[in-house]
Amino acid sequence: MADTLTAAERSECMRRIRGKNTKPEMIVRRLVFSMGYRYRLHRRDLPGCPDLVFPRFRKVLFVHGCFWHSHPGCKRATVPKSNKDYWYLKLENNRIRDDANQIALLSQGWGVMVIWECEIKNSYLAEKIRQFLHTD
Ligand SMILES: [Zn+2]
Repeated sequence: MADTLTAAERSECMRRIRGKNTKPEMIVRRLVFSMGYRYRLHRRDLPGCPDLVFPRFRKVLFVHGCFWHSHPGCKRATVPKSNKDYWYLKLENNRIRDDANQIALLSQGWGVMVIWECEIKNSYLAEKIRQFLHTD
């Protein structure tokens, strides 16, 4: 397969994979596995290196930390008071990159779902994932 990632995208990918295996992601992986679904992890050839990839359904799932990915309206997603400009810029860049990745995935025919860190303990999460995987 041709390597279509730019150097910047590739290092972004590596950084994300190194920082992964975080608790929220592990919880989601275990849940999805226990529901009987099988998936690939962090496919580097896809925009944004989605955390879980379901090739048969052509769906991808991201597990996002509320702070780093600026979960709208979430109390965990507040900008720190010191170095406000720095944080604002950094978080805004993350948000722009997330949007670009999602648009790229959708344009390649992938369905995209984001699970936020603060949603992980919700009892309806399993049902939400099931519906996502089985809805076109
Ligand atoms: Zn949140």
